[in-house]
Parts: sequence; structure tokens; C-alpha cells
Amino acid sequence: MKIIAYVILGVLVLGLLGFTVSVRSFSKNKEIAEASWNEYRPEKIANLGTVKELKIMPLIDYYTSNDTLSGEPGVSYLVSAGDKKIMFDVGFNMENEHPSPLLRNMNQLGVDIKEIDTIVISHNHVDHTGGIQAKKQDTFLLSGEEIDLSHVKALVPEKMVHSTAEVEVTPKPKKIADGIATIGTIDRAIWGMGLTSEQALVVNVEGKGLVLVVGCGHQKAARILERTRELFDVPIYGVIGGLHYPVEESRMKFNMQKIIGTGKLPWQKIEQQEVLEAAAELDKTNLSMIGISAHDSCDWTLDKFRELFRERYVDIMVGKEISVAR
Ligand SMILES: [Zn+2]
Ligand SMILES: [Zn+2]
Repeated sequence: MKIIAYVILGVLVLGLLGFTVSVRSFSKNKEIAEASWNEYRPEKIANLGTVKELKIMPLIDYYTSNDTLSGEPGVSYLVSAGDKKIMFDVGFNMENEHPSPLLRNMNQLGVDIKEIDTIVISHNHVDHTGGIQAKKQDTFLLSGEEIDLSHVKALVPEKMVHSTAEVEVTPKPKKIADGIATIGTIDRAIWGMGLTSEQALVVNVEGKGLVLVVGCGHQKAARILERTRELFDVPIYGVIGGLHYPVEESRMKFNMQKIIGTGKLPWQKIEQQEVLEAAAELDKTNLSMIGISAHDSCDWTLDKFRELFRERYVDIMVGKEISVAR
């Protein structure tokens, strides 16, 4: 009996120790993220140029426009702008299937992998890089079996590898093509997951303005907007993607997004008030279009944004194209 008591005590002590270390490393990462935000001021991108039309086709997200398409709590959007076809993130593939939900949806929506010239990975989290296998190998995976991406250029937020695609790390803002750029990475400390560097894509649509395409939104909406304003003298027209506001349970019974990925300690929840403040901040920007991904926000949050932005709100659903043109 005594031995069992010692074992239990040992496990408890080790657990407490591990937890203390994780809290300390979270605080340290928080300091690093704040310092990098305060110290880095990007140079303006004056020659961004424009595209005539932007189309965003959600290939993976939580909700789908019909039952034959696969939804999952991850992100992959096909961004067609100018002569570029960009895959923004590659979904989750939770069961490591082949063909993955992403490939099945692409097949149904008539999207051929050969059309894609660029892949942009917002950040190195499993719901954006194609699952746990991808994380283990520090890569991104479109399916459970190898997909040839030798024709693709991949822009990744931190050091990642790929067996066939040409990979470039893009921590700094960078023009990708006429009218298209990455705003560069913004760091955020995520408890239990280290320092997360996340980039967002921006497309300048002629006669409309800048449309931001966001992954998980760990950077926080206010900083994404501030970085974009620093980079361009063009008004922000729209924001499409995840902003990470899982405040209420609503859909998922045990919602890990509420505990990890919040940028806070596990017992510090995101409050409703923070969501309302972020929505007001976005509204001050005079956005003409906003759509919040349901993969990392709850339905309560989505409804609040719908109420506030009314006809300016667009639903993000797999198979339902969002288009912006002059
Ligand atoms: Zn996410
Ligand atoms: Zn994430």
C-alpha cells in the first residue's frame, strides 16, 4: 500500500512540476512575442498593384454548403486572384485518410491540384497543415498518401520541409504577385504549443481595396489590421477566415479550442466582451465584407458578427465561393 501511495505522490509531484514549467515557458514566450511585435516595424510595400477579381473557395472548413462535401475543424481556401491560384492552408485530415477530406472536396468541386501554383501555410498547427503526421515531420500534407507538388511554391511561416514542393520561409511581409502579398508573421505565445508565428494573405482588388485571408487568427484581429495599415496605403475592404473566438460550447462537446490556442493560460477563458470589442474594432475599419471561420470560433461568436455586420457578413462554407470584383 505504501508503495502505491509513493507512486501516486510521485506522479502528482511530476505533474505539478511539468505544469509549472509549461506556465513559465508560456510567460517567457509571451514576453518574446510582445518584444518582437514592439521592435519590428515593417517597410511599406508601395508597389503592391491590383487584381481585377478575387475568388475565395473554401475547400475545408467546419460548415459545408451541402451534405456531400466534407467539413472538418480546419482550414483550406482556394484563393484565385489575377493569374494566381493559391491554396491557403491544407486542412486537418484528422483520420489521416487517403483521399483526405480536402482531396475529396477538391474532386467534387472540380479543383485539380495541377492548377495550384502556390501554397501558403498560415501557421504550423495541425488543423492548417494536414494533421498530426505533418506536424511530426515538420511539413504540410494534403492527404494520407504522397501528393506530387513539384510544380508548387510553398510560402511557410517558419522552418518547414516538403518532399516535392519548393519551400520558402516568409517571416517578413512580401509581395507574391501583382496585387497579392503576405503580411508576414506575427508571433503569439500559445500555452502548451510554444511560440506560434502566423501569416495572413492580402489581396488588393481594384476599386475595392484589401481583402485579408486569415488562418486561425492567433495574431489577433487588431494586430492584423495594424500590420496591414503599416504596409499599405490602401483601405481594408474585407476579412475572411479564423479569428479564434471559441467562447461558448455550442457545437463541439469538448472544445479544445477553448483551452489551447487562446493565447491565454488554460483557466483564463476568452470572454464574450473580448469578442464584442474585437467586432467593434473591425467595424471601425469600415469593412465592407467579413466572414468568420467556424473552425475556431463558436456559433455564438458567428451570430454576434452576423448581427453587427448584417449584409456585410458572408458565411464561410465549403463549396460556397466568395467573390470580390470591381
Ligand atoms: Zn485553426
Ligand atoms: Zn492555430
